[in-house]
Amino acid sequence: MGSREHSHKKSAGGKGRRAPAFAHEAQAGRDPLESYAALIDLIDGHVARLVRAYGSRIACRRGCSACCILGTVNAIEAHVLIRAVRALPARVRASLGRRLERGGERPGCVLLSRGACLVYESRPVICRTHGYPVLADGAVDVCPLNFRGVEELAPSYVLDLERLNTALAAMDVRFRTLIDEPFFDQDRIPVSDLVERALSACPGCGSTSRRAKN
Ligand code: SF4
Repeated sequence: MGSREHSHKKSAGGKGRRAPAFAHEAQAGRDPLESYAALIDLIDGHVARLVRAYGSRIACRRGCSACCILGTVNAIEAHVLIRAVRALPARVRASLGRRLERGGERPGCVLLSRGACLVYESRPVICRTHGYPVLADGAVDVCPLNFRGVEELAPSYVLDLERLNTALAAMDVRFRTLIDEPFFDQDRIPVSDLVERALSACPGCGSTSRRAKN
């Protein structure tokens, strides 16, 4: 993932409640990991409403991994994923390590195993929004497998991707200024690198210098 492939355009119309604007979650001064957790809650709440409204028109479910092609993430999401990988059962980590050693044998995200995400509860923002209606470059984008027969979506179900990415970028910048670790000092981190880090013995990577903690 990292780009929105498999996209399809819809229109958004009507009045009423708007989709989340992410202003509070991006507020300066908040702990970036708390802000990130709040952002995730907001997205999950939004998606839950969307699924309640359009459930039968949504194909995203366990078993569909068409968009599981995540290549890189930002630093704050790398940190969250590293913690999630480290929390996996030992046998799962061992099999992930073997998959990593085999390298580019298989296309797709290294965290995808038998059609399911190994770190589903901790998956990045893009994995939580992909396929659902997002406003991108002035148009509403959805997975073509979703919302078949629906021509127009209420604006309250359309996430503004630019606002979302701006909020996420602000958290990432704050996270990177707080964490004292060269690994996280990069704009994008390959998923294979963060998995390798999570699996390696790494005495110094269990904590960060100040508030952000591993
Ligand atoms: S992190 Fe999980 S949901 Fe996201 S692309 Fe990888 S396997 Fe799929």
